[in-house]
Amino acid sequence: MLLCKKIKLNVTEQDAATLEFMQAKCRSLYNWWIMKLRDGEKWPGWRIAKKTLQESKRYDPELKQVYGKLLHEVYFRLDAAMAAFFRRTQAGEKPGFPRVRPRHGFFTLVYPGAYITIEKKTLILPTGGGGKHGPKGYPNIEAELTEDPPQDYREVAISRDGRGDYYASFSYRVKEEDQHPGEVVAFDLGIKTLATGVNEQEQFYHIGGFKGGQWYNRQLDKIRSKRDKCKKKSRRYIHLSKVYKRVAQKKRKKQRDSLHKASHLIAHKLVERTVVIGDLSQRQMVMKEHQERNKYRNRAVFNDWGLYTFTEMLKYKCHLYGKELVFLDERNTSKTCSGCGNLQTMPLWKRTYCCTNCGVVMDRDENSAVNILTRFLARRGPHTSSGACGVLHEDQSGVEVMEASCPVQVQPQIFPGPSCSSTIAA
Ligand SMILES: [Zn+2]
Repeated sequence: MLLCKKIKLNVTEQDAATLEFMQAKCRSLYNWWIMKLRDGEKWPGWRIAKKTLQESKRYDPELKQVYGKLLHEVYFRLDAAMAAFFRRTQAGEKPGFPRVRPRHGFFTLVYPGAYITIEKKTLILPTGGGGKHGPKGYPNIEAELTEDPPQDYREVAISRDGRGDYYASFSYRVKEEDQHPGEVVAFDLGIKTLATGVNEQEQFYHIGGFKGGQWYNRQLDKIRSKRDKCKKKSRRYIHLSKVYKRVAQKKRKKQRDSLHKASHLIAHKLVERTVVIGDLSQRQMVMKEHQERNKYRNRAVFNDWGLYTFTEMLKYKCHLYGKELVFLDERNTSKTCSGCGNLQTMPLWKRTYCCTNCGVVMDRDENSAVNILTRFLARRGPHTSSGACGVLHEDQSGVEVMEASCPVQVQPQIFPGPSCSSTIAA
């Protein structure tokens, strides 16, 4: 399968200027086409569009200073954008027309692997001009790689993040591991803990996600409100915008990092054979049903954990490590008692499942995880389960298996009202 490794680049001021120049030129070529297409011109496909490059170069001689392969990539991207647009229109959707790329963003520059060279830790990116094309306006870029690049890379994309750092993303191929027999672990993806898992031995795993989200949100709100009190385009306004971008980037990075660690932990270490998780496409419905779509919880579910990103990571990591990933309809899994099958309403703030029928008291997420596992096993056929119980602790900067317990330890008892329900500490 194809993977991508993103490596930070150290570039000199001059090389940074070259990169900025080239991305600006590529973007303006892209935007020029988008404007034309928006005015009703027909997209001729990349083959024919590419032939107009000479004409464009005559119109804007500065394009000659941009490496040709990067300009070709612009046509490929236009082609992909238009193809996606038409595909969605044909499917009966109402997609927005491909958009003009804003000036504040960085137009990612994609080099085919064959056209770059790496000497020890220096990545050499060619620029346009030279030879028969006339004098070179910008010398080739020599950027220092902060990590070792993968072998046999295919494409290299140069990008810039919100902090103004440059990165090179190498795409490369790796061989997947073969599938091996072993345990099934079912996971419930939640709000309070990122994932709660249970295996066939009824051993529980609680995997916490990135915990600094609220702190970052508060900081970001503060910065934004300060900024919005300033006069637009004033020096302070621009400064605060920069700070905002930097902090937001830091938050995104930390989130992503912890999702990578959590999914790696699940796909590589915890699970032997199969990972079962609830189908997230049902999630929206569950939220509607609960009528609890307040700002903070939405932020918590859809922005701060990034459950969608998490499942995407799980998908490829499971594939890579030879594990099977199964999506299961998770309807009613949080409402059903895992002991007796009793159905009762579970508002999101109720963190403990107290069965009114058989008196089982369980953590909400653990209960759902058991239900997902039983649903999966029922589908797959008979199984036996023994009562082993172990405790697992793992701590890797923000990602931890907080505890592993066994339901045998939880004594079935009947709790009156408030003592067995706790609200989410907001
Ligand atoms: Zn029950």
